[in-house]
Amino acid sequence: MAVFIVQDEIQDDLSQLLLEISKRLQPFGSEPPVYGANAALDSDGIIFRMQKYCWCEAMDCPWCGGELITQNGYSNHEILRLEPIFEASGRIDGEGAPNFWFDDGEASIKIWWYKYIGRGFLSDRLMTAPDIAHLRKAVLAALADRDTEVLRNAVRSELSYTDLGDSSSLLPVLQDAFLALIQSAPKADQENKISEVSVAIQELQRQSNMAHQAQLAGEALDKAGIARSANPEDPEDLQFELTLTTRLEHLVDGNERLGSDTPS
Ligand SMILES: [Zn+2]
Repeated sequence: MAVFIVQDEIQDDLSQLLLEISKRLQPFGSEPPVYGANAALDSDGIIFRMQKYCWCEAMDCPWCGGELITQNGYSNHEILRLEPIFEASGRIDGEGAPNFWFDDGEASIKIWWYKYIGRGFLSDRLMTAPDIAHLRKAVLAALADRDTEVLRNAVRSELSYTDLGDSSSLLPVLQDAFLALIQSAPKADQENKISEVSVAIQELQRQSNMAHQAQLAGEALDKAGIARSANPEDPEDLQFELTLTTRLEHLVDGNERLGSDTPS
């Protein structure tokens, strides 16, 4: 299959469309949209994917390794294993998997770029200005349909650096809570809610780091043979009551919060 250099006269329109999509896919705005976003929003027979430029160089990465499969480095066994993965990624010979792939049966296009949107633009067909207009309409409609999914993915990736240790099962609970908080706001206020959630997630990360430090300190005390209080109400017990995860569990279970005045 041939690829085409995106013509000068439509490069700006195409860049603008992809930047808009990238921005919509990252409502928290923690990454500049110019690199694109990682999203797989296929559903109802619509293919809708975006992938940042990848240079992981893993041989089973369809974006990086996709090109190697045609070279000599792979055994037949590896080729048999990788071919279906590469095929499903939309890869084409010589280019690897596309950075953007949309196909709803009517509008259909694969785009490749080098590092950032607009640079080294290639497409799997020659596009005209009316094609871009048609693509824009189809993609934005598909994006609107997937609002909840986009938000859910965004919350998930914002939370992904929050280490809840043993209580990592709470992550989906927190995701749902943050998502519900954003969605409960009227559309016009959603951006503010997203900022609020963003601040809350940063605070969660800060606390989870502190909890981790407390855990390490506890382990150091153990190692040094220094006895710690086993009484969970005693704040010296770094291992338990002070950890963020324990406090979160108490909150989720509806139990008393640490530091509240519980009569003993
Ligand atoms: Zn890669």
